[in-house]
Amino acid sequence: MPDSGTLETILTALPGGYLLLDAQLRIQLVSPRFELLLQSPPLAVGQPLPANVLPPPVLQQLQQAPQSWSLQHFHHGMLLDWLLTPLAHGLLLSVREDRQAFRTLVENSPDIISRYDTNLVCLYVNSALASRSPLPPLYHIGLGIDDRGLPPNMCDAMHHAARQVLSSGQPYTFETEISRPERHLVFEARLLPETDDSGAIQSLLCIERDITEQHANRLWQADENRLLEMLANDRPLPEVMDWTCRMMDNQISGAMSSIMQLQPDGRHLRVAAGPGLPEDYKALIDGIAIGEGVGSCGTAAARSQTVIVSDINTDPLWAPYTELVRPFPLRACWSHPIMAHDGQLLGTFATYFAEPRQPDPLTLDIIQRTSHLMAIAIQQEQRASQLFQLATQDALTGLINRRHFMELAGKAFHDARQQGKPLSLLMLDLDHFKAINDRFGHEAGDDVLTHFARLLCDGLRNSDLVCRMGGEEFAALLIGASEEEAHIAAQRVCKAVASCSMSSNGNTIEVTVSVGLCSLDGTVMTLGDMIRQSDKALYQAKHEGRNRVCVAGND
Ligand code: GH3
Ligand code: MG
Ligand code: MG
Repeated sequence: MPDSGTLETILTALPGGYLLLDAQLRIQLVSPRFELLLQSPPLAVGQPLPANVLPPPVLQQLQQAPQSWSLQHFHHGMLLDWLLTPLAHGLLLSVREDRQAFRTLVENSPDIISRYDTNLVCLYVNSALASRSPLPPLYHIGLGIDDRGLPPNMCDAMHHAARQVLSSGQPYTFETEISRPERHLVFEARLLPETDDSGAIQSLLCIERDITEQHANRLWQADENRLLEMLANDRPLPEVMDWTCRMMDNQISGAMSSIMQLQPDGRHLRVAAGPGLPEDYKALIDGIAIGEGVGSCGTAAARSQTVIVSDINTDPLWAPYTELVRPFPLRACWSHPIMAHDGQLLGTFATYFAEPRQPDPLTLDIIQRTSHLMAIAIQQEQRASQLFQLATQDALTGLINRRHFMELAGKAFHDARQQGKPLSLLMLDLDHFKAINDRFGHEAGDDVLTHFARLLCDGLRNSDLVCRMGGEEFAALLIGASEEEAHIAAQRVCKAVASCSMSSNGNTIEVTVSVGLCSLDGTVMTLGDMIRQSDKALYQAKHEGRNRVCVAGND
């Protein structure tokens, strides 16, 4: 055996713990660090090694044929590196903490890992902190939680969590949020107690994970559900679009969203929503033509592809408009086309920012999904308006049908009576129409009906309700027109029809119309009364020789 005095000096100076045993496994030398790492009671030199000091796998190796051997093993919660070295007269057992492996693990973790004393003074923090703090980790060490420049809400949350952990002895999980100009960050933090052998809490370990993306997804899902609910409840399209823009503006910090819809000509876009955009700007872009180089939306619509303009001032797609846009706080514009399921363009969904900006993949995904929902909303509205048209319009003439007329006329009648305003009803019936059919054919008859409908509308005001009651009978409710005014209008129509010969399939067809007129007065109590009286007047007009206007009550 070497001189134990010298050996003890050397082994005490080394970072690990050491145990020197003779061939009978009696203790020859033990370094204080060995006892510390193994948390063993003091070991007496010259005595056999107590059985419970070493973990079973190490003890087993020790008792077997002595040869060099190493093992990593957890002991008392620490990962320890064991090394057994055979000597001429015994064995040297060395043990060291695997600090390096632990550091590598912790330092490379994407989670922010920090350790605190029970007063929340920072003892350690890994380099992942850089994602959240511009200050190096070393700056934080030794500082209390309130002195590290953290947002107050985060300090409060940590204090609360520490109280929970210290009183319950259990880990505590909570969420914290940090607002950055670019991005709102959300963290899930887990605070764990670290105890000594007696179970007393010595320190607190905190693991914080960036859950911004999951959080945004969760928020987005809640909003998406709300949007689907609005679609399922048939909310009006402008309301759905306005809400969608506001929702996006909330989701993406600094965003100003807008929706443009394709105009019926298929070549222009009109602003359908954009609650966050300046009104003057919306007026400026309303009705823009679709085309390559027409800003982000015009181009996205022309290409049927997403167009990301991260800086309006320098992007060639905006070159013709940079001066026009300059007065507005708009520097970036990303536009996504809104496409129907059959690939037809319906509009564009655009997101503006006051600063130059590039989208991240999550934001692009949200924009894409929102555009898809807007496509559903627009198509749903188109289908609803087609159904409404089918239900309310006369297919041949395009005038409203009898059912819809009765609904609208009922309301107008009620309003006029309540407000004491004049109202007049014309019942119109083409003269000898059967003869036209018989002579020129049913198709020519149809042309006459269409032509007459146009003349009738031309002869009245846009606010009047004009309807095809059925066959060759029409009705017109002249809102705000006295009997005298209505009489003039009716005669104008009569004359226009009589003086206008129509041509159909090479034939020149002449037709006249008879009109019965009834105006609102003390004797007319209901819309039904009004219809009956004007019908009666119409019958009188027929009776008196057709091609004329008769007024109810003048028989
Ligand atoms: P009067 O001057 O007394 O009103 O005579 P009229 O021939 O106009 O009246 P009548 O009620 O005898 O005939 C109406 C005709 O209108 C009969 C019907 O075949 C025709 N008709 C009804 N609906 C349509 C339609 O949609 N298209 C065409 N072409 N004809 C129709
Ligand atoms: Mg008739
Ligand atoms: Mg007729």
